[in-house]
Amino acid sequence: MSEPTTIRLYGTAADSIVDGPGLRYAVFVQGCTHECPGCHNPESQPACGGTVRAIDDIVDEIEANGLVGGVTLSGGEPFEQCAACLVLARKLKAQGLGLWIYSGYLYEDLLAGRPDPLAPELLACCDVLVDGPFVQALNSYDLAWKGSSNQRVIDLAASREAGAVVLWQTSDSFPEVPASW
Ligand code: SF4
Repeated sequence: MSEPTTIRLYGTAADSIVDGPGLRYAVFVQGCTHECPGCHNPESQPACGGTVRAIDDIVDEIEANGLVGGVTLSGGEPFEQCAACLVLARKLKAQGLGLWIYSGYLYEDLLAGRPDPLAPELLACCDVLVDGPFVQALNSYDLAWKGSSNQRVIDLAASREAGAVVLWQTSDSFPEVPASW
């Protein structure tokens, strides 16, 4: 099967400082089946909403930006457009950009190929995963990079090496890189 050339987006933010450390380009995919009560982006849930964009146009836009230190894939649910996000992620990594990804699924499920057999490949392209659904009762504005305390900010490189979940730690050079980079 041929690779997707388009992706359905809820939107983008060219200068995000809330979707990971530093100045980042955030890509919000359209469509999410988790239906978390209190969802921060309920308009991003319908799979048929949003705008269809050419993946290469997004890559060109990020390359032309020149200011961002990394890219964050969020949503919506990136792993429910796994093939398109994988194409995008590979192109961004080829540019040397750091990549964070948010998901309502758990790391262990994604590693096991749920909800998409390509999920492990998409994880392998990313540096940090913020996982798990948003739980309104566990919401706090004091949490760094996540909305509720059940969610985990996972250092994927360290987790791959350890064969177990390693949480992301800020380094002395915060906010640019975690300690394991
Ligand atoms: S995973 Fe995120 S986008 Fe999806 S319903 Fe939950 S809070 Fe909303």
